[in-house]
Amino acid sequence: MHNTQHIIVVGNGMVGQRYLETLCETLRASGRREHYRISVFGDEPRAAYDRVQLSAYFSGSTAEDLSLVSDDFFAANDITLHLGEGVLAINRQARSITTSRGQIHNYDTLVLATGSYPFVPPIQGNDRDNCFVYRTIEDLEAISAAGASAKVGAVVGGGLLGLEAAKALRDMGLTTHVVEFAPRLMAVQVDDGGGAVLRRKIEELGVAVHTGKNTQRIEPGESRRHRMCFADGETLETDIVLFSAGIRPQDALARQCVLEIGERGGIVIDNHCRTSDPHIYAIGECALWNQQIFGLVAPGYEMARVAAEHVLSDSPDDATEFLGADMSTKLKLMGVDVASIGDAHARSQGARTSVFIDEHAGVYKKLVSDEKGRKVLGAVLIGDAADYSTLLQMMLSDIAIPGKPEQLILPAGEGGGAALGPDALPDSATICSCNNVSKARICGAVAEGATALGELKACTKAGTSCGGCNALVKSLLDNELSKMGVEVNNHLCEHFAYSRQELEHLIRVEKHKTFESIRDAHGHGRGCDICKPTVASILASTWNEHVLQPHLAGLQDTNDYFMANMQKDGSYSVVPRIPGGEITPQKLIVLGQVAEKFGLYTKITGGQRIDLFGARVEQLPLIWRELVDAGFESGHAYGKAVRTVKSCVGSTWCRYGQQDSVGMSILLEERYRGIRAPHKLKFAVSGCTRECAEAQCKDIGVIATERGWNLYVAGNGGMKPRHADLFATDLDDATLIRYIDRFLMLYIRTADRLQRTARWLEELDDGLEYTQQVVIEDSLGLGAELEAQMQSLVDTYECEWKKTLEDEHKLKRFRHFVNSPEPDSHVVFVQERGQIRPATEAERRQQEAA
Ligand SMILES: Cc1cc2nc3c(=O)[nH]c(=O)nc-3n(C[C@H](O)[C@H](O)[C@H](O)COP(=O)(O)OP(=O)(O)OC[C@H]3O[C@@H](n4cnc5c(N)ncnc54)[C@H](O)[C@@H]3O)c2cc1C
Ligand code: SF4
Ligand code: SF4
Repeated sequence: MHNTQHIIVVGNGMVGQRYLETLCETLRASGRREHYRISVFGDEPRAAYDRVQLSAYFSGSTAEDLSLVSDDFFAANDITLHLGEGVLAINRQARSITTSRGQIHNYDTLVLATGSYPFVPPIQGNDRDNCFVYRTIEDLEAISAAGASAKVGAVVGGGLLGLEAAKALRDMGLTTHVVEFAPRLMAVQVDDGGGAVLRRKIEELGVAVHTGKNTQRIEPGESRRHRMCFADGETLETDIVLFSAGIRPQDALARQCVLEIGERGGIVIDNHCRTSDPHIYAIGECALWNQQIFGLVAPGYEMARVAAEHVLSDSPDDATEFLGADMSTKLKLMGVDVASIGDAHARSQGARTSVFIDEHAGVYKKLVSDEKGRKVLGAVLIGDAADYSTLLQMMLSDIAIPGKPEQLILPAGEGGGAALGPDALPDSATICSCNNVSKARICGAVAEGATALGELKACTKAGTSCGGCNALVKSLLDNELSKMGVEVNNHLCEHFAYSRQELEHLIRVEKHKTFESIRDAHGHGRGCDICKPTVASILASTWNEHVLQPHLAGLQDTNDYFMANMQKDGSYSVVPRIPGGEITPQKLIVLGQVAEKFGLYTKITGGQRIDLFGARVEQLPLIWRELVDAGFESGHAYGKAVRTVKSCVGSTWCRYGQQDSVGMSILLEERYRGIRAPHKLKFAVSGCTRECAEAQCKDIGVIATERGWNLYVAGNGGMKPRHADLFATDLDDATLIRYIDRFLMLYIRTADRLQRTARWLEELDDGLEYTQQVVIEDSLGLGAELEAQMQSLVDTYECEWKKTLEDEHKLKRFRHFVNSPEPDSHVVFVQERGQIRPATEAERRQQEAA
């Protein structure tokens, strides 16, 4: 017989949950599970969820998506879970706790994982209606409900969480202000130079930043619900106030039972995470180690590991110790890369700094090195944090700087671009600091058979928290596999151990028509932003069902979801198809009338059509109703699809013209319109070699000759321009179309996701010759099949907007707020050159004040 020990954990947040997982794993491995009884009390209504990803709630993630706990975790591990039941008191003498339900439970070991609470500055009026904090799912639900009837929101606090909260308000369509007491944003992590670049970038995104502002009181407003009054006499009117002014350790229980507490709060712990009572541990954000509270999840996870090991250890004094944690962080704040490493403020003795600023691109990089320029001590990266992993590893692993320090931050081509290959890292290098996973652990797991990224992440936990190390984990995996002589896998994502090409094959051959069907057969999990749109695209180019069919709509990205392109101010553009750029005067008049009626900005595009800008979501169906009635169709400008076929006037009008380039371009555009592909596709047709339609920079380019048509493939403009390759010469109309059918279908079937024809052809071995053999010589015997697949897409084409207008159910999605029919008040315009354009922030404020 042995005594059963009762371990009680207070708090089922991120760290409390990690403690339970580590504890159970260790107990299982040592065969001692039955010696322990484990209970956990959480005062939130739900089990642990990913607080780090909390903001994803505003972009559609549900509480279920954020959950960190599988359905059967507590039952399978025989843990008694008490949700919505807070612990109110601890009796240290009796070793018992009392809960909010009046229950008393005895413990042998108590683990406090109570986290922290948001600090709300003691400002008069801070408890008024519509004043919120940003910590729990319930907070976000309340903010979301208030946002539906609000126009302006202000965040108090311009730190990391403040900027995340500001993004949430901005995404809800509110005019958003950030009010910061310090003279710059993210004062803890970045320096003055970085703060200035960050501020400019955030302001460009339409968020007003007020630094050096001391809020003194919040009182009823005149035009908005509240008026915030600042020490300098200025005021700001807003409907919502969101406090994000730092956190305070939740140490109330420790105070009640008189454990040692730090001067400014926090439960004092030793290197084994024990409090001043040896039967009580504290971990996570409630714990104070060496005068420090750690406001990041990684140190909390390390504490969870140390505390679990200590409580179970036969020789506790020798157990692993918690020795502090690196506080480097890399984040995307409002789409802006922000990273801070080590001694970002260059406070170390003899520290030297190198700075690179590109104000046009909004990039600021500062490297802090030692006096001799041999070691990295810290860095600040704003606008481009691609060097984060390299610099962090160099600092953590004490790797000597090769060459001059500034080369580490200069762009490639200007003396920089030094990257640290995986082999340069020592085995002890910490790759994932959230989960304390070393290079040796990752390489060991690969050697033991974890050769897929998803498997590797699952068994090491690397990259499963903030995700900042994902690129490095992948490069380590690839490096190890190639050393083992294994071909590096190109799995789509952790949910599918297949490349896009393999998935396309499975969907087509096994006739899967839904995401769930292919996932159940060949994948796992709920899917992600990579696999869902990829599967949606494959389904579209295989079965050609409407993108807003109920089983497909949820897979689409924003532009496909609203069948319009979102612009920088949150409004949308409407792009009707104008095949070959040819349009009748009557249709031109309709476009003018529609633009005038809905107050839209009109612009002739490079693809020879007329874009209408400035539509709000709820206006899209009304606009399209008029366009469809006048005979227009969707131009698919929003899709990874065939877009336009540009043409010159050709032989009909031009004295040099060899063939009717307009006729051919209309034929091509009407044949391939809207076909979904791994990336967008552009065509052009020129009537002679003078090439007025610039066909040689298109995915498919056609140039007239005396005897027919020359076909060019795989050109593109974009960031990495590529001149198209001549594929076949002097083709008649039918052969030209047969070759394009085959070439496009081959591309659609075999390219990677988001790979344009140019990169696809370059990456195929002998790409041009190979595709010529497959398409022209039919070397794989696939020609007829590729043509038939293309023909079926051509035969099943329907205008997506026309179909949508016929379906009340599909029309319901065209509203800005899910819970309110109100329009997006953030979309504000001013007049310029006789048309509208998005208002700047200053103009928006002026309009509001008026
Ligand atoms: C919006 C947001 C973004 C963030 N982004 C990042 C990031 O990018 N990177 C990063 O490293 N960190 C980030 N963090 C911080 C990270 O979430 C925390 O470090 C982490 O959640 C701390 O875990 P914890 O378990 O100590 O505390 P918590 O997750 O807060 O869990 C504590 C739990 O204990 C419960 N509790 C408290 N008192 C009692 C009681 N008496 N009885 C019962 N239950 C109790 C609380 O309700 C809570 O559920 C972010 C936090 C927020 C809010
Ligand atoms: S490409 Fe040739 S046919 Fe076409 S407009 Fe130019 S000169 Fe005329
Ligand atoms: S080139 Fe294209 S992406 Fe860039 S600003 Fe112009 S329209 Fe936008």
